[in-house]
Amino acid sequence: MESFGKYRIRWCPICTQGWIEIVKAIDTNELYVCCLECETEWESPKDALDLKVGTHDLYGMVTVPTFEEVCSKGWEKYISYK
Ligand SMILES: [Zn+2]
Repeated sequence: MESFGKYRIRWCPICTQGWIEIVKAIDTNELYVCCLECETEWESPKDALDLKVGTHDLYGMVTVPTFEEVCSKGWEKYISYK
């Protein structure tokens, strides 16, 4: 999957090949975070930072959420601008 590069959380510690980013499932409009390289998914940025076990293939096609959508989840504080 191509990186969106918009709402990066942290460098993926699982594959060390890509960024974990906030994305939105097109089907359900649900926000979650995903490494776009190894495609590991977590329900929230906190789960990713805590290195909880991620899932695969739980969500379908993704797009980039709006900043308002990210804020509505209270996730804007997780965005890394480094
Ligand atoms: Zn990864």
